[in-house]
Amino acid sequence: MELSLYDTQSRSEKIVTSKNSEVITIYCCGPTVYRDAHIGNLRTFLLTDLVVRALHVLGKKTLVVQNITDVGHMTDDFEEDKLLAQGKSESRSARDVARDYEGRFHRDLAHLNISPADHYPRASESIDLMFAHIQKLIDLGHAYVGTDNTVYFSAKSFPTYGAISGNTLEKLKPGHRYDYVDDGAKQFHADWALWKSSPNRNEMVWNSPWGTGFPGWHIECSAMSLKFLEGHVDLHIGGIDLRFPHHENERAQSNPIVNGEAVSQWLHGEHLLFEGRKMSKSAGNVVLVSHLLDKGLDPLALRFCFLENRYRSQMDLSWESITAAHQTLAKWRLLAASTQPTARDSIQALNQEVREIVNEIVSAFCDDLDTPRAMQILRSAVKSSLADNLKSSLLNAIEPLFGLALTRAIDVKEPSSEILQLLEERRAARAAKDFNLSDALRKRLDELGITIHDGPEGQRWEWKI
Ligand code: AMP
Ligand code: ZN
Repeated sequence: MELSLYDTQSRSEKIVTSKNSEVITIYCCGPTVYRDAHIGNLRTFLLTDLVVRALHVLGKKTLVVQNITDVGHMTDDFEEDKLLAQGKSESRSARDVARDYEGRFHRDLAHLNISPADHYPRASESIDLMFAHIQKLIDLGHAYVGTDNTVYFSAKSFPTYGAISGNTLEKLKPGHRYDYVDDGAKQFHADWALWKSSPNRNEMVWNSPWGTGFPGWHIECSAMSLKFLEGHVDLHIGGIDLRFPHHENERAQSNPIVNGEAVSQWLHGEHLLFEGRKMSKSAGNVVLVSHLLDKGLDPLALRFCFLENRYRSQMDLSWESITAAHQTLAKWRLLAASTQPTARDSIQALNQEVREIVNEIVSAFCDDLDTPRAMQILRSAVKSSLADNLKSSLLNAIEPLFGLALTRAIDVKEPSSEILQLLEERRAARAAKDFNLSDALRKRLDELGITIHDGPEGQRWEWKI
């Protein structure tokens, strides 16, 4: 079996292969560390993890790089660097903001069981790499110094501009704000800054051969991907919004350096919506991993929800669906723990029936990450008449692919003696038909994290989610 994924540039599915060696080189655009990653960002970061897990199950080797953008990413109005703006609002340095949110980004990845990349280069520590890259582009005639001392990429020097997104230069209208606009300083409206001259800034600036300034956002991904992946990216991953201009510009900056296509395949994940709307501060629907933790929800319930949707479709999430996923996850963990799995080590060692189900699941992953189909196969198997020890084997066997920590021991919380006493008092109150007291006791138990269900067989309780 091979992993086949949709390539945005060729608009077709392609088998993921390595161009230069047996190691598949993967680059994933990383976070801009001026705030916590929201769960939409995490959906995109999970995409890389799913690709890597599928490749590893197929026996392939990978080398994964994800950059940390800690300079150069401008606010939407292009007025200010996002890190500097956040530093001001938090009354601390841009560097402190960056290191703090970078640490939190890694914690969020761990909560979602996203395997770490092999390298996380920081933009602010890769400035020399960018100098060298920019100088080569100037030497090759692809870049020039504008009248404002900013170094610009000459869009017209790259004839296939627009191949990924369809936004060719003929279609781009002058005045469209997709990058810094310094009227008159650049030669053509669609040219963009590689090195932004900024003599008056005093934080996050460097002395360059072209004067004091800071790098453009797009150049960091070109410089870092080619450096850390040794001159070729087999698979490049990012959210759909990065298709243009970020990836288009990256392609234009990288291809002339390698004298060919620097990236074999471009993979884009669609956006996550929350309760029907794009996640944004102004809509008030930004959801973070910490919000799930505050509600007592397992962050892997989020992973579960993402798996139930294809990466290439927009997806709408709600607290209801996360809660339902949390409950299913708990049931599956109980099942996985209920009996000793018959084999943990290899698919070959599994019972034939289980092996066939595992193969079906792997083949769904290979089919352009059809994770909804993989989840459906798993759900059916869990509901089927398969013996419990075989179900347990199955859940153990697919763990490396799904990463849902299905084999994690269940933390069984015992009720306190106060709770047990209140439950007993409520049972007695109901038997005596004292419904006022029984309601008051239900309220008190609710405050202690207990949900009560009354039925013909009496009261049943569970921990609240
Ligand atoms: P940023 O930190 O803003 O640079 O974004 C990091 C990654 O998250 C990029 O690959 C974006 O394309 C992606 N992204 C941003 N918003 C969403 C969203 N709502 N759903 C999925 N991915 C997103
Ligand atoms: Zn990037």
